[in-house]
Amino acid sequence: KPVVGVLALQGGVAEHLAALERSGADARPVRRPEELAAVHGIVLPGGESTTMTRLLDTFELYEPLRERLAAGLPAFGSCAGMIMLAREVLDQDPQLPAVRPLGALDVAVRRNAFGRQVDSFETDLEFTGITDGPVHAVFIRAPWVEKVGDGVEVLASVPEDPDTTGRGGAAGRIVAVRQGPVLATAFHPELVSGDERVHRYFAQIVRAQ
Ligand code: GLN
Repeated sequence: KPVVGVLALQGGVAEHLAALERSGADARPVRRPEELAAVHGIVLPGGESTTMTRLLDTFELYEPLRERLAAGLPAFGSCAGMIMLAREVLDQDPQLPAVRPLGALDVAVRRNAFGRQVDSFETDLEFTGITDGPVHAVFIRAPWVEKVGDGVEVLASVPEDPDTTGRGGAAGRIVAVRQGPVLATAFHPELVSGDERVHRYFAQIVRAQ
């Protein structure tokens, strides 16, 4: 079984651990450098990316994680986790502590991109590589991907449908990407119980390394 860690500093840790176990992985929380050293892949959960930046420093995990990612560790980030994996974060508020992204994915993401009035929404997405029907996507104060580098594959974009019209140009926005062994979604597959297809897709990536 591949050993897959979930960065367990804050956010949706338990849901990812459960979905990974159901996907056939040996899932473990990661809070310490020794725990990070033992995994074959890592999940960065949703939460809040400025807080996650600060906690990575506090737990002395920022550099070890950045180095393992640079060395090719498979990773999956959902929502705030996607922001942390990015190369660039757009629209940072200079009044607030900054997000320091880890630079594992050659993308620029915009935080809280879907607008202030509408904090969350759900829709069904076509997801490249998952062929047996659409993926139900839950967005909570989600980012979107605004620029992608050459090596980045777009796996899903927001469809034009009644759930997405009127959300400040949401339709067509990129919300799932992959670059080599690094996967990221702006939404939360871990919150859709009974559908582990995105986690299984990631477990496949880890097994293939
Ligand atoms: N808005 C959060 C951030 O900017 C992400 C929200 C989430 O992970 N659900 O970090």
